[in-house]
Amino acid sequence: MTDTDRDAFAQCYNGMLIAFRVSSDDPIRLHGELEVYFRALRDLPLDAVQAAAEGLQRAHVGADGRSFFPTAPQWHKAAEAAQVALLRKMLSPAREEPWHYEDPDCGDTGWLERVCQVGARCGCESCSKRPGDWTHPYVAPCSCRATNHTYRRRRDLGPSPYTPDEAEKATANVRRRGRGGFRHA
Ligand SMILES: [Zn+2]
Ligand SMILES: [Zn+2]
Repeated sequence: MTDTDRDAFAQCYNGMLIAFRVSSDDPIRLHGELEVYFRALRDLPLDAVQAAAEGLQRAHVGADGRSFFPTAPQWHKAAEAAQVALLRKMLSPAREEPWHYEDPDCGDTGWLERVCQVGARCGCESCSKRPGDWTHPYVAPCSCRATNHTYRRRRDLGPSPYTPDEAEKATANVRRRGRGGFRHA
């Protein structure tokens, strides 16, 4: 987000306050908290932050079944996942077949979509202390980033430090796995 997204973010934040029934009788405190959330989320695009807010409003409940206003890291994590979903949506119309991705595992987004659950926690401390029914989506960096040309081009990372030959070798296994899914046994 940039400074021009401030108003839109404030609107989104106010929607969250209403959805989670946070009382808004102290405007100065609330403005300060809005600033904290804005700064915590500003490395992500506005549409991902908004999409995450919608998802959190639908499903952000704790172990006791009650909804609670997300912390900045929780909102950030949800927005990262939303960003990946938006990237996928943006990319897919141009590609008719899934195996045209350089890396079908991550869809060339450079992120793997995961679910934090018992036995496979996301790594944050508060999740490791939660009971078994606590789950949430999150994303982890994909190992293809160094060799994936589509990912690097989109992120302006410059050309891959690997030669096309090396990159081909590194992604060949991944591609074979992707195609294998369509073969009949
Ligand atoms: Zn987690
Ligand atoms: Zn990948």
